Amino acid sequence: MDAELDGLLLDLDGVLVTGGRPLPGVPEMLATVLASDVPLRILSNTTLVPRRFIVERFRSLGIPLTADMVLTPPAAAARWLHDQGAQAVALFVAPGTREEFAGLPLVDPEAESGADFVVVGDMGDEWSAPALNRALRLLVNGARLVALGMGRYWKAPDGLRLDTGAYVSALSFATGQEPVVIGKPAPAFFRLALEALGVPANRTAMVGDDIISDVGAAQQVGLKGILVKTGKFRPEDLERGVTPDWVVPDVTHVLPLLGLHTDLGHIPTTNE
Ligand SMILES: [Mg+2]
Repeated sequence: MDAELDGLLLDLDGVLVTGGRPLPGVPEMLATVLASDVPLRILSNTTLVPRRFIVERFRSLGIPLTADMVLTPPAAAARWLHDQGAQAVALFVAPGTREEFAGLPLVDPEAESGADFVVVGDMGDEWSAPALNRALRLLVNGARLVALGMGRYWKAPDGLRLDTGAYVSALSFATGQEPVVIGKPAPAFFRLALEALGVPANRTAMVGDDIISDVGAAQQVGLKGILVKTGKFRPEDLERGVTPDWVVPDVTHVLPLLGLHTDLGHIPTTNE
């Protein structure tokens, strides 16, 4: 069949990996796409690990991904801050992601004024009242609030934990400042990825397991949205007001839409 798509954006968790391990057929699928001339980017909202970790995980499986093929909120925010001509950035992010901001001018870690941007990600257990108050003082003293996603909470091994959006909302409530959100579902995040692909939006698909922030959000910027039935997918998701362009059992079923063929017949598909 003729290709329906020329470019591909892939969510990471629930589409390519689950619990840190690749889903069945994913290494073969990625190898097939990388060997073709179909441009690919992985679009993940993770703010806990640097892209280097993600790339190394796939490289250990023989998949030659490079860091520039992975777009995360910290990486996108660093680029955005650079484009904004940021002069003094205050980071409230996990230690592991600080390296994504290398090359940007940072304020002193104790500073309470003098920042032009306050970047808030998931600091996990590093959050404290003094840290939040320092962010507040920097904002009141003139900094703009930048959010690395707006997740409400997530499920950690020990139970639910507040996510970035909860901390951003506290700072936004206190200061009355609307945050600049970088990450899914923000349209700018998808546009940045699309720019990197160099393929028209209507010939590019976003593949995700979140019908709202992957599929629906991608469709809002003119991309095709493909929902996989892996990861967090539940049948009720299809009644949430978003109609995916395609619903597929798993990400390996996207290959024919790209005009790519590979013998995946021997690979067990995930059971639903
Ligand atoms: Mg996902």
